[in-house]
Amino acid sequence: IRSHTCCDRKLPCVAWSGVSKRIPVLLFCAEAIVSKDVAIRSVGEKYNLAFKIVRTESRLVRGILVNHGFHEVHPNSNDFNLMWTGSHLKPYLLRSLQDFQKVNHFPRSFELKRKDRLYKNIQRMQQTHGFQNFHIVPQTFVLPAEYQEFSSSFSKDKGAWIIKPVASSRGRGIYLVSSPSQIPLDENILVSRYISNPLLIDGFKFDVRLYVLVTSYDPLLIYLYEEGLARFATVKYDHATANIKNQFMHLTNYSVNKKSSDYVSCDDPEVEDYGNKWSMSAMLRYLRQEGKDTTLLMGQIEDLIVKALLSAEIHIATACKMFVPHRCNCFELYGFDVLIDSNLKPWLLEVNLSPSLACDAPLDLKIKASMISDMFSLVGKFPFPTGSESQSVSVLIHSSSQCQRPPSSNSADPEAQREKAGAKLAESTLSLTAEEMKVLRRAQEEYDRRGGFVRIFPTPDTWELYSVAFIILFCVVPSALFCSLISWLFVLVPPSCSKVQARMAFSSYLHRVQLRLLAESRANMGPAWTQKEHDQMELVVRFLKRASSNLRQDMCLEEPSRLLCLSDRQRILSHQLGNFIQLYNQETKQMVESLDKIPDEDRCINSNVFQEFILEASESDLEEVLTFYTQKNKSASVFLGTKCDSSRVKRTSDENRESERHFFIFYMPSHQPRMKYDTAHVIKECFNNRWWSERNSSPKNEKSVIIYSPPCHYKPIKRNPN
Ligand code: ADP
Repeated sequence: IRSHTCCDRKLPCVAWSGVSKRIPVLLFCAEAIVSKDVAIRSVGEKYNLAFKIVRTESRLVRGILVNHGFHEVHPNSNDFNLMWTGSHLKPYLLRSLQDFQKVNHFPRSFELKRKDRLYKNIQRMQQTHGFQNFHIVPQTFVLPAEYQEFSSSFSKDKGAWIIKPVASSRGRGIYLVSSPSQIPLDENILVSRYISNPLLIDGFKFDVRLYVLVTSYDPLLIYLYEEGLARFATVKYDHATANIKNQFMHLTNYSVNKKSSDYVSCDDPEVEDYGNKWSMSAMLRYLRQEGKDTTLLMGQIEDLIVKALLSAEIHIATACKMFVPHRCNCFELYGFDVLIDSNLKPWLLEVNLSPSLACDAPLDLKIKASMISDMFSLVGKFPFPTGSESQSVSVLIHSSSQCQRPPSSNSADPEAQREKAGAKLAESTLSLTAEEMKVLRRAQEEYDRRGGFVRIFPTPDTWELYSVAFIILFCVVPSALFCSLISWLFVLVPPSCSKVQARMAFSSYLHRVQLRLLAESRANMGPAWTQKEHDQMELVVRFLKRASSNLRQDMCLEEPSRLLCLSDRQRILSHQLGNFIQLYNQETKQMVESLDKIPDEDRCINSNVFQEFILEASESDLEEVLTFYTQKNKSASVFLGTKCDSSRVKRTSDENRESERHFFIFYMPSHQPRMKYDTAHVIKECFNNRWWSERNSSPKNEKSVIIYSPPCHYKPIKRNPN
């Protein structure tokens, strides 16, 4: 798919998706806007694809859609595949969206767009995850509410501040002040610390416009377009206070500077570093030649984008759950404005929800037409009428009622049958629900159609950077890594094991200990035994005494005599452990039978994956999971049971704690180093392309794993600049 071109004479602008790669997908190409190619147009026309543009005027969007054969419907019409709107949608309109319809905004996007909300969201992240980790925006106060705080900050550091209306754009109403007395207190405004040391090129201040595409907030999927724009001020920078009123020096907005007689535009799209608007890549090339580390800079910019979106993620994901009926209804193209200071630190100035798509200069058209075409290819999917509509394939957009609908799948159609069979096979091999399959395939296919968009979240690094447990991916991992990965998932991914699963894990763990004791008893025929081995035996004895007292049934426990040799003691203990496991499993079974529904099963690990894990996990893998479960629940009573029978020896709470503490430390043979994978390493390995799979089934020595968790479980780790 990646190598698609419009020059494929048979099927222009078509890629293939779905399990068997037989579902056609319409790809957009920027050249269509100028070439007006009939073959390209005919593809969209064939399916009667419709769009509407509401409350905005975008010649570029209209041009691209029309030249791909879409027809425009009235803004009031509901028969559209794509709605391009300049403002956010009311909840009732979102709720009425059908599965083949898309809009270019998520609900509650004002959490990012409004400068006051954006700042508050980032401030919240600073408080919960550390100021340094979210130090991505200049210090800001909302006035008049925070006037006191602002005054005290001002008295400590008397630099310039910049005043902005809370919900405005294009530099409107923005000015600089050097004293609080210059600030009006009767309006809601934002006052931000002015970055007085901007990075300059040829003495001019500039900022960068980056195009960021989000196709889902749950799970979060973020793409950054490879190209952007650098926008220059028209007067050379001089931070002397006398110039404070000169907007052409301090503001970099195009809408401000185009009014200056000094504004220079460039008529040649191939010249990207001339005049007041450069391409981002030309700007980076220039900085590289100046000896600046642009790789580090771009890494920090990506980090800033991810963090800004994470700060609003919970609000937007929640709103999506409430108002958006289908996962694929919304996408959003954001314009991120970033200012780079002389230390090469990027600062987020604002997030635009409807970034300007005006093409005043040839360079604008060159960059924006490619970006918009790639965006539509990435978010949209247009099936042919002859294609199947198999449940397993996410049909993102198809024609609406008056538009031509693809016929429903025909059971006699061999392609439809193959598609269904493929999906079934994948479903059974992966143990995924239909919904998981859909989400997964969508993420994979989006990635395949990404064009010039680079996925910046999730990536292998996001695990290390944000310790993120919110990935949704299908990985095929070597069997050797499977159990390690799953045991780490128990620890990392919040939906952990249910009580029944915890008991099953515990029983398996004891079974491993039992087998080990038996194996060691065979190997330990000699008289010598170490203090460590002695201690371990003691632990097992102590455990059995305590745990058996919690069984509902009586268990006759005989402590092996200390006069016996080690191997005999191990053998006896192993046998007793076996008896214990049998009774323990019976109780688990009774527990399951007495429940209609396992109370916390909604939050537990997928039972098929869990079963597989239980069968194959090593003693240390299981120990990992159980230790985590105990820590998380601050008790091991789930495995121990809580029965307190007065006929038995009464235990003090100290003793209880003592027994819990010793639960998972049976296994410490010094000759066998514990195999423990570093989480980031395991995840990275899984992300490694070698184990990405688009296959329908996995070979025997590999296993499929889906990693999924809801948003907002992460703790950011500061990026190490080195
Ligand atoms: P608008 O939405 O009106 O464009 P911005 O927040 O993007 O508002 O600010 C407009 C311009 O002002 C920016 O492009 C930048 O040049 C300048 N600017 C804004 N905030 C700061 C700041 N804190 N320090 C330095 N310059 C700033």
